[in-house]
Amino acid sequence: MTRFQAPRGASDILPPRSVLHETIVRTGEDLFKIFGYQRIETPIFEQTEVFERGLAAESEIVTKQMYTFQDKGGGSLTLRPDGTAPVVRAAIQHDLSSTGMAKLYYSGPMFRHERPQAGRGRQFTQIGVEAIGSASPDIDAEVVVLAAKVFEAVRLEGLTLLLNSIGHPGCRSVYIPVLVDFLEANRENLSADSRRRITINPLRTFDSKNAGDKKVLAQAPLISDYLCGSCADHFDTLQALLSELGVTFTLEPRLVRGLDYYTRTTFEFTAPGLGAQNTVGAGGRYDGLAELLGGGALPGIGFALGVDRIALALEAATEDEELRGLDVFVAAASDAARKAALLVATRLRERGVSADLDFMGRSLRSQLTQANRAKARWAVVIGDRELAEGNVTLRNMTTGEETSIPEKDLAERLSSHG
Ligand code: ATP
Ligand code: MG
Repeated sequence: MTRFQAPRGASDILPPRSVLHETIVRTGEDLFKIFGYQRIETPIFEQTEVFERGLAAESEIVTKQMYTFQDKGGGSLTLRPDGTAPVVRAAIQHDLSSTGMAKLYYSGPMFRHERPQAGRGRQFTQIGVEAIGSASPDIDAEVVVLAAKVFEAVRLEGLTLLLNSIGHPGCRSVYIPVLVDFLEANRENLSADSRRRITINPLRTFDSKNAGDKKVLAQAPLISDYLCGSCADHFDTLQALLSELGVTFTLEPRLVRGLDYYTRTTFEFTAPGLGAQNTVGAGGRYDGLAELLGGGALPGIGFALGVDRIALALEAATEDEELRGLDVFVAAASDAARKAALLVATRLRERGVSADLDFMGRSLRSQLTQANRAKARWAVVIGDRELAEGNVTLRNMTTGEETSIPEKDLAERLSSHG
């Protein structure tokens, strides 16, 4: 018989990694709510055109990475590679910003047909926000601060925040011809990919990871020198606000982001120790996106954080202690005590204390091994003597310290220990 495996690039997220994933997602969502964002859930698939238009037809995601299929009804659908285009599609469809800003957050799987590597999957999880309806630099500051706070809350340290402005289409119409002239003049030193981009999307040559390209682009004219007055003001205000809010950033005039609908602010957080897949989150302003998707002019800014990469970065630094899944493992020292163990576990669960026990008829010793494997904080041991006295033995699984306490006080004692 065939033994099946998860599809290439799509992995099962097993404990304890799954516990870490869940913690990252929850921590992010809790902060999003504190900042006044509300949850939105869009479908996992959309009409293909939402991404073709929303991500620009020539972008790498659209040309190489989309999971597109024919619906039985005949239309073309695509598993979402990104959260922004669907959220903006929904904001237009339901007129969500008619009465003010729409501040929305999402979390869930995204799908891109990439070459799988550590930190790069074909299904991966993002959490993110979209703030739709305001062009003010104040909201740019809020969004960048929020992303920084999420990393702080999950205790991912040593991050670099890269910040840039790529201007609005007017600035780029002055800058792009200058860039193209430069790229043409250095054509013979560029990779084939970058040469192709000169005509298709010259800005994206900055995304190249090729060493020869990087060398050429180190001398390239920069968008930062071509911002119009109002884009420059917007960027200055944002930088002043971030400094005032205590957020440290590095200006990176070559940060253009892989997606083509960005305008003005772009930013990216990179983490140490993740090799080539070191970007743990990224975002930017997309004032032109709504119009591409058939809506009116609707400015917006947002970010997406890569949960899988954050988990990878945190995993090395995370103590087992922090991934404990269970409050109590209730162990029975005799067969007579097994029923009592089930009753004790049930009473604890009713009080909101997570509890588990043995169902395999194992010895006390291997029940305690099981308690360890389940990463329980406590073990409760019930034996014949304890049964007769109405007491249980409470064992702290970290220190090994044991105390005898009345069974009736157990729930109280454990819930107060958090
Ligand atoms: P990269 O340059 O690494 O391909 P990207 O520009 O394609 O990143 P975005 O579209 O900005 O990434 O997505 C935001 C975040 O989602 C990234 O910073 C990263 O943390 C995460 N991410 C993107 N693609 C993947 C993937 N294939 N596997 C795991 N995480 C991913
Ligand atoms: Mg990518």
